[in-house]
Amino acid sequence: MAKININGMLANYDKKKLTIATVCSHSSLQIFNGARKEGFKTLGISVGGKKKLYDAFPLGKPDEFFIVKNYKDILKHTEELRKKNVILIPHGSFVEYLGPDNFLNLNLPTFGNRKVLDWESDRKKERKWLEGAGLTMPQEIKNPKYIDKPVIVKYHGAKGGKGFFIAKTYEEFKKRIEHNKPFTIQEFVMGTRYYIHYFYSPIQDNAYKLSKGSLQLLSMDRRDETTIDEVQRLGSIAELEELGIHPTFVVTGNIPIVMRESLLPKVFEMGEAVVEKSLKLFGGVIGSFCLETVVTEDLEFKVFEISARIVAGTNPYTSGSPYSEMIQPDLSTGRRIAQEIKYATKHNRLKEILT
Ligand code: AMP
Repeated sequence: MAKININGMLANYDKKKLTIATVCSHSSLQIFNGARKEGFKTLGISVGGKKKLYDAFPLGKPDEFFIVKNYKDILKHTEELRKKNVILIPHGSFVEYLGPDNFLNLNLPTFGNRKVLDWESDRKKERKWLEGAGLTMPQEIKNPKYIDKPVIVKYHGAKGGKGFFIAKTYEEFKKRIEHNKPFTIQEFVMGTRYYIHYFYSPIQDNAYKLSKGSLQLLSMDRRDETTIDEVQRLGSIAELEELGIHPTFVVTGNIPIVMRESLLPKVFEMGEAVVEKSLKLFGGVIGSFCLETVVTEDLEFKVFEISARIVAGTNPYTSGSPYSEMIQPDLSTGRRIAQEIKYATKHNRLKEILT
C-alpha cells in the first residue's frame, strides 16, 4: 500500500463543504440518501455516463455526477475529486471493479481502514483473524480424497458465489473441479444463514462498549441466491444433478430477517471479538462490517466469511431496521456512516476513521 497522506489531504479540505461520494452501484442509493439526511453534499461517480435510474429516486440521487470512462480512470481524477472535498465510501462492487491494488493506492480520503482488505481477501489470513478471535469457521478439507460429507468448493476471488459448487463425494468433486483455478474446500454447514451488519465506531462510546469505542448491530439479512434457493421447485438437488443441472450461488437480492432474541448476546460477543482482534492485527475494522454466518441446529454460529465494508444486504433498511429503530428511528447503515463522518469532523477526529 502506497503511503497515503491523510493529514495532508485533510489539511487542504474545506470541512464545511465535505462531499460524500461513492460509485453509482451496489448500495449507492442508500449511501446518498443517508448522507443527504445528515446534510452532506453527495457525488456519484458514474462509469460510462449519467445513470437514468437515479431520476426515479430523487432522495437517493447524488447532487452531482462525476463521469469516468471506466473504474480504473478514477485513479487519474483524484486531484479533481480532492478539490471537491470528497470523502469516498467504498462498497463491495467498488473494490471489486477497481481492483484491490488500485483501491489501496487511491489517493483519496476513504472511509474505513484500507488495511483490512489484505486480511479479508486472503483466505488464510481471514481464518487467522476470525479463528484467532475465537469464532468457529467451517472446517477446511485440505485433500479432496477425504471428502466424507457435503462440501462447498470455492474458487479464489470468485465474487457473488459464482462458480461455487457442492460435492458430497470425491467422485463428484473430480467431475466438477476446474484444476486451473485455485480453490478451497469447506465443509457445507447445514443450518440457517444470517448475514449480520455491524457498525464499529472507534471514536464514540454510546453503544456496546469495547476496549476502544463501541459496537452497534444495525441489521441483518439473508441473501437470495439463484438457483440454490429455489431449486427445489424443480426437484431435489440430487435428481437435478443426475440430469447435469447444478445449483449456483449467484446473489440476486436480499431478504430482511431478524434472529431469535436469545441469540443476540452471542452476536455481540462475536462482533466484539472480531473488532478486538482486528485492533491488535491491523489497527481495527472501522465502520461497517458483516459476518456471514450459518446457525446450526445446536444453535451454534459458524462464520464462513467477513465483509469489511457496507454490504448490499443493508439495502432493505433504507429507513431503518427492527434493530436500528432501537438506536434511532430512520437509521440506515448509509446514514450511520454519514453520522460518523459528521461527528468526527465536529471533534476534529477524521483521521481516526479515514485511511
Ligand atoms: P461466499 O462467497 O463465501 O459468501 O459464499 C457464497 C454463498 O455460498 C453464501 O452466501 C452461502 O449461501 C454459501 N456458503 C458459503 N460457504 C458456505 C458453507 N461453508 N456452508 C454452507 N453454505 C455456504
